[in-house]
Amino acid sequence: MATEKLQFHEMGLDDRLLKAVADLGWSQPTLIQEKAIPLALEGKDLLARARTGSGKTAAYAVPVIQRVLASKQSVREQDVRALILVPSRELGQQVQAMMRQLTAYCSRDVRVADIAGKADVSAQRPILMEKPDVVVGTPSRVLAHLNAHNLLLHTSLEMLVVDEADLLFSFGFEDDLKNLLCHLPKIYQSFLMSATLSEDVQALKELLLHNPVTLKLQGSQLPDSSQLQQFSVQCEEEDKFLVIYTLLKLRLVQGKTLIFVGALDRCYRLKLFLEQFSIPACVLNSELPVQSRCHIITQFNQGFYDYIIATDEHRLADPAAASQAAGKGKKNKARKSKEKEYSASRGVDFQNVDNVINFDFPVTVESYIHRVGRTARADNPGTALSFVAHTETAFLSEVEEALTGDKAESSLKPYQFKMEAIEGFRYRCRDAMRSVTKQAVREARLKEIKQELLNSEKLKTYFEDNPRDLQLLRHDQDLHPAVIKPHLKNVPEYLIPYALRGVVNPLSNHRRRKRPTQKLKPHGVAKSSFKGTNPLRSFRYAKKTANKKPSHSK
Ligand code: AMP
Repeated sequence: MATEKLQFHEMGLDDRLLKAVADLGWSQPTLIQEKAIPLALEGKDLLARARTGSGKTAAYAVPVIQRVLASKQSVREQDVRALILVPSRELGQQVQAMMRQLTAYCSRDVRVADIAGKADVSAQRPILMEKPDVVVGTPSRVLAHLNAHNLLLHTSLEMLVVDEADLLFSFGFEDDLKNLLCHLPKIYQSFLMSATLSEDVQALKELLLHNPVTLKLQGSQLPDSSQLQQFSVQCEEEDKFLVIYTLLKLRLVQGKTLIFVGALDRCYRLKLFLEQFSIPACVLNSELPVQSRCHIITQFNQGFYDYIIATDEHRLADPAAASQAAGKGKKNKARKSKEKEYSASRGVDFQNVDNVINFDFPVTVESYIHRVGRTARADNPGTALSFVAHTETAFLSEVEEALTGDKAESSLKPYQFKMEAIEGFRYRCRDAMRSVTKQAVREARLKEIKQELLNSEKLKTYFEDNPRDLQLLRHDQDLHPAVIKPHLKNVPEYLIPYALRGVVNPLSNHRRRKRPTQKLKPHGVAKSSFKGTNPLRSFRYAKKTANKKPSHSK
């Protein structure tokens, strides 16, 4: 039976909140807000599966503000009443901004402090001494303040929000979070927001929530197709290299791109392969020192690099998984402490990722959502392209099933292009692959670790005093263990697929951008031709001239 949607003004909210909501132009609550706000106002603990873009921030921010306003009517004393834990600095800023907007008419009664930012713990002390009503921060930063007695929560806290809980785990905040809970009072209301309900999140639910209501709202796992375009393409091992070469070299994929592969060795294999063609890329490797990893992500966010090659995030961040993969007991301890160090300096997250490419298809639905969820964040558009070998089709089906649900259309569209149009490149790719031997991969891994250990030391000491020089250090240097054949650097015109001649502008030399901050735009000729089209679908140009092309497609 269809029921009328509950409106904001029917939720019993303070007039000042309603006015702020009206100023924001929100005519009605989103699905998650409609469900979560009334339950939260009843005092229920909530576990909500909600992603960025669903209106999840206001779904907890509105009840938090309402409760602070209500408390203040009876208790005059100023105290920290709500704590919002976030996995990254950026999310902290977004939450703070949303809180500011919602408290526009009650900012004196509801004071909000964001301590997720870059400032020193000591510099933030004065802010906390004023006992803001709501504190927003990463678990490590909040814990640091609790330990320094800048923040006391064990008597005053009424509400705890853990936002993007799944990322808190994949970012390695688990221990900080557990330690932090010891500083909280026995009774408080909790909200747990998470894009995926992983085992870790379920465990946290047990720890944090009392008789919670779980909201699993349909379709809330990834943005819809108007924001996130998802494609898959069938290709076997050799074709994967051929296709990625074509996409990157002809710049059919544009903008900041995360390329996920199934194992660490493959990261280096792909990097060395691309290096053969003078396509620079960074590897984000869990074995690299913490400072380097944070620096790589920061520089990627600043637009220094276009391509990062990574394995699944839990391998990057979860010490247990990393150790398992390494399988070496003795080294585990060292790695664990390193990871802890990493987590302490966290609050660094990928920003404005335009594309995610699954070079190897993820083996779980959760991992697909994590990877692809890196693009199309907030209101930005994004594209995800997955390469699927015949051995990976079962995983694709699982993802399709989980994402598509009852919808008539499948979530991942076939990425159509004519494989034979790029056959001309196959010989070059094979030539390049011949240089990427197991030995070369091993050497590259070793060389990079040595290089990054040096970088890390420099980063730690020198750059603390000279933050500007941080820009001088790069992580996408050639590793060069393999012979580089100069002719592979350029793309002869006759090899470019007919339909793309004069349209694409191949990446022809090893240009490294110095301080680019803007999103990549198509260059030169490509600019006008690509206008308004999704670069990942550019191969559709092939269709227009189908009569001039070989007729069968892959
Ligand atoms: P979030 O999921 O919290 O990241 O919110 C995504 C975007 O939706 C933000 O830009 C919010 O300002 C916006 N938003 C939140 N609630 C509503 C609503 N009820 N109506 C329209 N936009 C909203």
